[in-house]
Amino acid sequence: MSDSPASARAEEIKGLFAQYVVPTYGRFDLVMERGEGRELWDVDGKRYLDLGSGIAVCSLGHSNPELADVISEQARSLVHCSNLYYYETQGRLAQRIVEGISPGKVFFCNSGAEANETLYKLARKVGSEEGRFEIITASDSFHGRTLAGIAATGQEKVKKGFEPLMPGFKQVAFNDLAAVEAAISPGTVAVLIEGVQGEGGIHAASPEYLLGLRKLCDERNLLLLWDGVQCGHFRTGRFQSFQRILEGVEGGEAFLPDAIAMAKSLGGGFPMGAVWIRQAHADVLGPGSHGTTFGGTPLACAVAHKILDVVERDSLADHAREIGTLLKTELERIAGDYPQAIKAVRGLGLMIGFELNPGLAAFAGESPASIQFVNRLHYAGLLTIPSGAAVVRLLPPLNLTEAEAREGLAVIGTEIRKITL
Ligand SMILES: *Cc1c(COP(=O)(O)O)cnc(C)c1O
Repeated sequence: MSDSPASARAEEIKGLFAQYVVPTYGRFDLVMERGEGRELWDVDGKRYLDLGSGIAVCSLGHSNPELADVISEQARSLVHCSNLYYYETQGRLAQRIVEGISPGKVFFCNSGAEANETLYKLARKVGSEEGRFEIITASDSFHGRTLAGIAATGQEKVKKGFEPLMPGFKQVAFNDLAAVEAAISPGTVAVLIEGVQGEGGIHAASPEYLLGLRKLCDERNLLLLWDGVQCGHFRTGRFQSFQRILEGVEGGEAFLPDAIAMAKSLGGGFPMGAVWIRQAHADVLGPGSHGTTFGGTPLACAVAHKILDVVERDSLADHAREIGTLLKTELERIAGDYPQAIKAVRGLGLMIGFELNPGLAAFAGESPASIQFVNRLHYAGLLTIPSGAAVVRLLPPLNLTEAEAREGLAVIGTEIRKITL
């Protein structure tokens, strides 16, 4: 069945998109129907092992029965009542997020772009009396698709055609402390980085960079803002990626950003975002200054609570670290066997990228090497995600089993061998 030409049903569904859906996404030629655990099936019944989790979202895999139960139970009690009122689930979830980071407060929203928007507004509010509003971000970063988000993002392709860009953002090289220092002006109020750049090809911030940035921001009275939308929520083996990056590093325990944006895995597929703000600035965004209708609904918060319960009960942070180490070690072995195909393997925990050699004859043709290889893997029944033109990303559910990890590695190994023939 898997080798059969696209079915009439798949063609019909794609036709609906061609006619009725705004074509903002470059979609792969797959029509999905259902998922279970780490597996997805398309409309023709072909099965895929999912090492992408819908771009680092489905942290507990697909159709998780515990999430399904909590969604239906909460839906029978209270789905939404607005932020005009208090309710327990949001308060308790904020408490758990604070306990996972450090004293502060949490704002709830619905997406990563919105969480980052909260960071920009926090920074502008902090700097408003002194007329400071500029935020320094990194080249190859990704911060979302709102107008401010594309101004913050360090990639030209997201900005093109949407000028004039929102003023107040400036990009400098990632992991380069001197570049940040040189970019600071009297109008600068904050620095924003991802702990591990996801869309930019899986590049982790170095410990020296993080400690240096914290010191620089303290000296120059700047906020250090953290986009943990993709790299957060236990993906690296700790709740937030700086906790992992700075593990065992002298002075690392004291490191804290001033605010952290979260989304993606937070709701495990249920749309949700959040921002943790350090105690010193936790009341800057006062009544009437910011908000969103759907932020932190009882339903969204119940789902997020259940994910935290399962992560704790099943020690999924440690599991992510162990399976991540297995994946990375084995990918490095494949890269060692086929150095002409794989230039580098990078990442932490279950956020891993391997960089292909786009010069390989197998990649002759129009589309980028990453897309071509991801398509090959699709054909072989494996879902991964391209990151830029040459990197393939693995962002599997946190509960990926060792057997599944080995299955994915075997497919990648086979396909890597084929492109070198
Ligand atoms: C996905 C992503 C965003 C944007 O999140 P949306 O939910 O798509 O708005 C922002 N920052 C990073 C690092 C991301 O990976």
